[in-house]
Amino acid sequence: MSDLLKVHLGDRSYPIVFGEDLTAQVHAIAAELAFGGRKIAVVTDRNVARIHAKALRVLFGESPTLAVAAGEGSKSVAELGRVLEFLAACGLDRSGVVFAAGGGVVGDLAGFAAACYLRGIDYYQVPTTLLAMVDSSVGGKTGVNLKAGKNLAGAFHQPHGVFIATGFLRTLPAREFAAGAAEVIKTALLGDGELFAKLEQSPLSPGDARLAGVVRRCCEIKAGIVEADERERAGEGGRALLNLGHTFGHAIEQVTGYAQYLHGEAVAVGLCAAARLSRRLGLIPDSDVARVEATVAAHALPVRVRTALSIASLMAVAARDKKARGGSPRFVVLKAVGRASVVGSVAPDAVEAAWREVGCS
Ligand code: ADP
Ligand code: ZN
Repeated sequence: MSDLLKVHLGDRSYPIVFGEDLTAQVHAIAAELAFGGRKIAVVTDRNVARIHAKALRVLFGESPTLAVAAGEGSKSVAELGRVLEFLAACGLDRSGVVFAAGGGVVGDLAGFAAACYLRGIDYYQVPTTLLAMVDSSVGGKTGVNLKAGKNLAGAFHQPHGVFIATGFLRTLPAREFAAGAAEVIKTALLGDGELFAKLEQSPLSPGDARLAGVVRRCCEIKAGIVEADERERAGEGGRALLNLGHTFGHAIEQVTGYAQYLHGEAVAVGLCAAARLSRRLGLIPDSDVARVEATVAAHALPVRVRTALSIASLMAVAARDKKARGGSPRFVVLKAVGRASVVGSVAPDAVEAAWREVGCS
């Protein structure tokens, strides 16, 4: 059984296919490409290559495969160079096609390589983490990190198709699954109160029968937002809404040197901080803050920072956030559970209070 969602972006439109196992669907595309004389190259990481060796062989047969080191360290300019050289060594021409099979790191890196190689070739995504399935596989943001910061070099390059096979999640470490769940909770909070209520009633788990449906709904919400604002140009609303919890979360990641929190864990605390800020601004009642915290906690995610972080440092970092405008960070706030909006100037007192309430000092 598979199910399909179309992301409408004019001539960059593409389908996302959902199912537990999508071997047949990937084979059909690979056969079609081969029939058209188009070469395929696969990029994955070493964990996925080891754990899913058999599945990758079934999916891609003898296609040349590059397995980069697992982890954020591979989202580097140096690794981008290696991927580009690999594509060249495989003899890909303009009709060549890249398959990115892995988590967000592989998707961002291989997607960016596909965007640069011969000024842009087609690529398909086969996300294998929950985070990549609900977040990085919709929207076409690709890129690598620079010494000066995360995702500072990149391109918008929409995939030609995305295959979301939730069966891959069975082997995902619990901590990584939880980190992906943070983006699911985020998406529900900003766009679907009913989905949030479902997560609230019973938290998601790796073998969950609802998983494919929930992932699909998250992609649908994100696709709707991206379709309306592909390049994040809308002042109010638009893609910026997807940053709910992220102004706080990015600051936590940066202040802790990207060493203590997975992205999703920092976002989890960020969602709680955003809820508290929204409460301070009189937008939502205490009971909604409690709902957000309980749901975050039920997904094995932190609701407070693990050790107190300096509010002054966090505020300084947030002011330099890539999404800040003229030194004042933009915050996404909740207007209700399931509805969010962007505010440009928030009184620093309110932000400080939110930081304090999630354990910073
Ligand atoms: P993310 O998708 O969260 O952005 P990564 O791409 O770094 O992050 O993936 C997180 C970790 O999970 C990496 O160590 C990666 O090798 C590993 N991983 C990815 N997919 C799977 C899977 N299906 N089973 C087990 N481990 C996986
Ligand atoms: Zn995120």
